[in-house]
This record gives sequence, structure tokens and C-alpha cells, in this order.
Amino acid sequence: MRKRYWIPLTVLAFALIGFFGVLPGYLDAGMNKIDGKQLIAVSPEAAALHRSLHIVDLHSDSLMWGRELTEVAGRGHEDLPRLTAGNVTLQVFASTTKTPKGLNYDSNPSDSDVLPALLVAQRQPAATWTSLLARSLFHAAKLDHSVALAQGRLLKVTDPFSLDRLLGKHATAGGPVGAMLSIEGLHDLEGKAENLDKLYAAGFRMAGLTHFFDNQLAGSMHGEKKGGLTPFGRQIIGLMEAKGMIVDIAHCSHQCVADVLAMARRPVVSSHGGVQATCQVNRNLTDYEIRGVARTGGVIGIGYWDAAVCDTSPRAVAKAIKYVRDLVGIDYVALGSDYDGATTVRFDTSQLVQVTQALMDEGFTPQEIRAVMGANALRVIRAGIAPLQSSPSGGGGSAKR
Ligand SMILES: [Zn+2]
Repeated sequence: MRKRYWIPLTVLAFALIGFFGVLPGYLDAGMNKIDGKQLIAVSPEAAALHRSLHIVDLHSDSLMWGRELTEVAGRGHEDLPRLTAGNVTLQVFASTTKTPKGLNYDSNPSDSDVLPALLVAQRQPAATWTSLLARSLFHAAKLDHSVALAQGRLLKVTDPFSLDRLLGKHATAGGPVGAMLSIEGLHDLEGKAENLDKLYAAGFRMAGLTHFFDNQLAGSMHGEKKGGLTPFGRQIIGLMEAKGMIVDIAHCSHQCVADVLAMARRPVVSSHGGVQATCQVNRNLTDYEIRGVARTGGVIGIGYWDAAVCDTSPRAVAKAIKYVRDLVGIDYVALGSDYDGATTVRFDTSQLVQVTQALMDEGFTPQEIRAVMGANALRVIRAGIAPLQSSPSGGGGSAKR
């Protein structure tokens, strides 16, 4: 009798080990690659300048994967030791909650989702298998756990006070790394405005309206209809601006971007992507959109992967940054890596000096490099996460342009 069950049980055991033990790491390593092409030579001047910077990255997806941030991951693009090595002051960690089947840049339906298999394989709590809101709250809890484990080396930023505290402690390279939460597509509201309070309470301070498909708030650049803001989307933007949550137009359709820019009362960001002028991909911003973001006092985060800048070279990143500077001024451009967002890049977060060097080689002054690498993003985050009611004159926290 026993022998009859031995072979199927062995097969089952191997299948389980493969599914739970091997698959998550295999997918993570396979989707978040470094291409291994040649890095640019770094001068002592660039290295010294880099060590003196406050660096902010507006978007990474590291929370999506089955890793503990405080440990060396051995795969992907980012973990706390590598953030520290790259002299990053503040990393914005996004919560991605739904990914359509056959993911592509042109057109994706709203009714499919391949994430549950990964979440089960990563042994996430059962609530996250079905609820998009639970997925974001899990990401927030995961970050909180890492912050506790890091014992002062990772600090959560939720308001201007915690931001100032971080900057005070990160006066020199090697200081603690700040972490702020964002959302990649507000379908995690599950259609209910009151869920915004739950997300805010968990620490989310920035949110993109859409991701790869049209949702209840707006059309996506990669959706089927690519429409503008819905009444629900407009309602949520009003609530976000009142609370102190930064509105992110990354992945929005062109109509959605136009609608957001027309109604925004506070600085708007494009957290990760590129510009059409240096890389003509549908998700990248037109000159008109770049001017619109600048008018709100916001920033455009430039990414490092091929669909953002049509190459993975740090020189391509510097060229996109230069384009924005020349069009609207140095104050409106920043970094938005999309690390660990199923991207292939040339340099991970420990090697961010590559961008500093490429900017120097493009003729940027140290002051301009300081602005791009972090000061601009810090200005927008500081203004954007202050609740409106805490600035009685309407100043400080709100751009009226
Ligand atoms: Zn994205």
C-alpha cells in the first residue's frame, strides 16, 4: 500500500519545493536584471560630489518581491545595503497590486491579473490573494517590519517633520536611508473613497492613478480605451490634495494627464519614465506635458531602463534630464529608477554615481546636479505631504501655479 503513494508524494514534494522555494526567486532574478554592459569611468571629482549629495529616487518596486529589504538580496536592483552604498537619502517604494496577463505598453484589458500566483508562491497572507487593498496594506506592513529590523538605518517618511529628521541624520554619506510609500494605480481603493483613509493611515503619501490598464479613476496609457479622469478619479484627486498625498501621472493616458494638470492645485509628479523627445515610446511625456508638470511646480523622474530612455546607458539618462532642463529649467527634473519593476538596467542603486558622472560629462554644474539628484524631489515631497489645513496662509504646502 505504502509504495503506491511514494512516487506521487515525492513528485508533489518536489513540485511544492519548486513552487514555494524556487519560483519566486527565479521570477525576481529573471525579471529584474542588470545587462552587464560597460559602465562609464568615474572620476574622483564625480565620486566626491556624489558623496555630498542628497539623492532621492521617486519610484521602485522592491516591495513586490519576496525579499527582506534590510538583507543583501543577491538579485534585483535594490536592498538597504545597496541603497546605503549608493548614498541614497530617500527611496520612494511603490505598491503594485495588479498586473494584467500579456503585459504590454499598447493595450491591456482590465479584467485579468497574473499576480495571485506570485503572491501565493511568496506565501503572502491569504487576504492578499484576492484583495487589492490588502496587497497595499501588506506592502506597508512589510516596509514597517524592515524599518523596525533596520534599527535606525531605514527611516519612514510620512510628513515634513520626519523628512527633516531624516535630512538631519543623513548630513553625510553613510547616514540612514529614508523610505516613503507610494501606490502604482489606485485600483487598490477597490472603488471606495473611504479606503484612501486606510492607505493614508498606513503611510502612503504618493499615488499614481493608473497602472497598465484603465481603472475606476482614469484611463491608462496602456489601457484599452485610454480615456481621461472619471468623476471618481476627480473626487480622489481632491481628497489626496487635501490630505497631503502627491498625485503621480506615470502610466496615465494623455487625456488623463491633461485632465490632472487642468485640475491640480498642488505640485504633480511623473514618478518614473522618460520624454518623447529623446525616446519616442507612448508612455513618455510630450513637451506640452513637461511644461504642464513644471507649471504645477512638480518634477519629472527620469528612469534608467530602455523604454524610458531608449537605452540603459547613464548617458541616455543624462540626455533626457538635459532635455527637460533645457525645455523648462533645472528645477523640474529628478530621478525615477523603476528599480525592481520588471526592468533591465545597466547599474543598480549602489552604482548611482554613474548618473552623477554622466551629468558632469554633459556639462551640468555641481549645483544643477544637486538639484536633479535630490533637491528638486525633496522640495516637491516636502510641499506635497504637508496636509493643506496645516498651512493656514495656503503657502508652504501649495503651489498655486
Ligand atoms: Zn511603472
